[in-house]
Amino acid sequence: MAVTRIGVLTSGGDASGMNAAVRAIVRTGLDSGLEVWAIDEGYRGLLEGGDKIRPLRWSDVGGIIHRGGTVIGTARSEEFRTREGRLKAARHMLHHGIDSLVVVGGDGSLTGADLFRREWPGLLDDLVAAGTVDAAVAARHPRLTVVGLVGSIDNDAAGTDMTIGADTALHRITEAIDAIGSTASSHQRAFVVEVMGRHCGYLALMGAIATGADALFIPECPPGDNWEAALVDTLKAGRAAGRRDSIVVVAEGATDRQGLPITAERVRQALASWLGGEVRITVLGHMQRGGSPSAFDRNLGTVMGYAAIDTLLSGAADAQSLVMGMRGNRVVRIPLEECVADSRRINAALEARDFDAALEMRGTSFNDALRTFNTLLKALPHPPAAGQRRLRLGIVHAGAVAPGMNAAVRAAVRLATDDGHVALGVRRGFHGLVAGDIAEMDWMSVNGWAPMGGAELGTSRDVPAGPDFYAIARTIEQQAIDGLLIIGGWEAYAGAHRLFEERANFPAFNIPIVCLPATIDNNLPGTELSIGADTALNNIVSVVDKIKQAAAAEQRCYVVEVMGRRCGYLAMMSGLATGAERVYLHEGGVTLKDLVEDLEKLVQGFRQGRRLGLMIRSEDANDVYDTSFMCRLFEEEGGGLFDVRQSILGHLQQGGDPSPFDRIQATRLARLSIRRLAGQAAARHPSAEFIGMQSGTVAFGSLEDYPRLIDAANRRPKEQWWLDVRKINEALSRPAPRLAPASTDR
Ligand code: ADP
Repeated sequence: MAVTRIGVLTSGGDASGMNAAVRAIVRTGLDSGLEVWAIDEGYRGLLEGGDKIRPLRWSDVGGIIHRGGTVIGTARSEEFRTREGRLKAARHMLHHGIDSLVVVGGDGSLTGADLFRREWPGLLDDLVAAGTVDAAVAARHPRLTVVGLVGSIDNDAAGTDMTIGADTALHRITEAIDAIGSTASSHQRAFVVEVMGRHCGYLALMGAIATGADALFIPECPPGDNWEAALVDTLKAGRAAGRRDSIVVVAEGATDRQGLPITAERVRQALASWLGGEVRITVLGHMQRGGSPSAFDRNLGTVMGYAAIDTLLSGAADAQSLVMGMRGNRVVRIPLEECVADSRRINAALEARDFDAALEMRGTSFNDALRTFNTLLKALPHPPAAGQRRLRLGIVHAGAVAPGMNAAVRAAVRLATDDGHVALGVRRGFHGLVAGDIAEMDWMSVNGWAPMGGAELGTSRDVPAGPDFYAIARTIEQQAIDGLLIIGGWEAYAGAHRLFEERANFPAFNIPIVCLPATIDNNLPGTELSIGADTALNNIVSVVDKIKQAAAAEQRCYVVEVMGRRCGYLAMMSGLATGAERVYLHEGGVTLKDLVEDLEKLVQGFRQGRRLGLMIRSEDANDVYDTSFMCRLFEEEGGGLFDVRQSILGHLQQGGDPSPFDRIQATRLARLSIRRLAGQAAARHPSAEFIGMQSGTVAFGSLEDYPRLIDAANRRPKEQWWLDVRKINEALSRPAPRLAPASTDR
């Protein structure tokens, strides 16, 4: 297929991560031998033509990945909605010989692009008939090819798990509600927080789960009649149980069952009858859109941008417009028409007040999250049902601390209690099981834990051995533990596997066991992501952004060492998110030849005027060529063109408040783990398992398979899905050969 010149535009509401997408589209395009032209200001620029349509060079998209919004501008254009407008747009495209478009935008922008594609042959006929365009030029561009990327903070598109910008918006919302929570708690106030989402409750729901809010109003799930009284009762019960604050999250499109808006003001009035003037409203507004994109949005934009060019070149989009989507961690191509029609169907159901249908169409994880929220928000648990077996479920950490551990414990304790069981908190990992250092936890004992970093229960890297087994068996018997939830990393899995293997010797171990993956290293089998890794990634990215600024000012090359031991996940993903030119992984090996080649590229780059170098290295990528060796080598051989500094990020990567994703997934996995333990408690051969996220769904695997799934010597799983993104980073960090100056096609 002969795509040679493509246009890229961003349109509709801006979304963080659009720049990463533009950068990837431009660089992958250039790397594949295409010319990539920016159409500034979306469709408005296309209608204006002139210098709004301009070729982009490799360097034009340098230094933008960390910036919010879109550097090529976005706008709304009423004129593009008209055929006259699109006629003009087609003329400007032909003038530059562009007949392929990559559009990054929401529902409206994608619909417009598809309409433009359908009309294209007719538009060209009209232009030729009017004598505006030469017939030969029109014949060279018989069709328009369109590939779309959904950029929308609302996460409202059907067919993709996430849209570009939604995760960053969730970061902003979570930071804001965390901050509001501390002042609300100090003054014993109630806050009503309005978040964006006219038709979609995603941001409100996930923000509420991540922050442990007390009540939620979203368009898909209006409350019953007399919701005002019910809301007051819920919040009152919370205060009676010891809470000092009340936070109600309202999506801007929330309504009651009659379709009347439930505004923040309406909620305030409902609460005023109880709290008087102590109710405050905060409308988060446009701050939700802005700010530096999260690591996830940078990588989502990058991966999708790469996929867009791949799709264009493959010819798959010749016959119909395609949208790039994400399911699990895999890119999928969805017919644009289908994606837009499904999203429209949800909006139509909401307008028709068929809320059940709208909710169902949002999919299982949305519904799952809503159920989880509804359980967690209750101020106090249900009393156990009559005749129900009250299980005693132990909750323990093992391995290094990971942000999100507290959110997991909080959810596990509350959900276990809500189901009528007893939650037992074990202190300091397997030590606590050995020593019987265990305490009953109740609903309020985990109050406020959702946003907390660290691990309140304590953790340890020790794995039980020898006499420990006897001591643990005794504790399990004395405490009458019916099931064990082990939340942690490598040592959690290794320890759980040992208990499983010792079942024949210690019958006490014949209880259900679930391991819940929580480690920043993301080096566990049976899951594509572990709790904590997203927070660590964001920690790394925010530091590397600062390092890059300093490096550019001083003509410097930085070698940044990140955690992960021999698992390169953090290095690879932070390299992708920060635009590092080289990522060193143990998985890929490091040879002297590599280092010499990289050095040559650095020297060449700095000679041609570049101002900074950024290499990211996984801490145990190579034992001999360590970080300080690499720095000395580059400095010594760099011929004085630049200096080299090392930056070993260390433990800051493990710290800080967990990211919204880590809090939400911790909550989700904990809920399913507790259900699993309860379901297995009466089994004759109870399961010993690990829970994980695979292709966007939650799955359990047996600990029996654990040894087969791991590369024990290198402490990582045998299969690592993310290794695929290496090729993307290589394409984006390899400057394309200079292209001949662009010409126009009249
Ligand atoms: P979003 O893309 O974020 O949903 P809008 O709905 O405002 O934002 O759409 C952005 C732009 O896309 C509009 O200003 C218009 O130029 C174009 N557009 C939207 N809907 C259509 C349509 N049905 N036909 C043609 N162009 C459209």
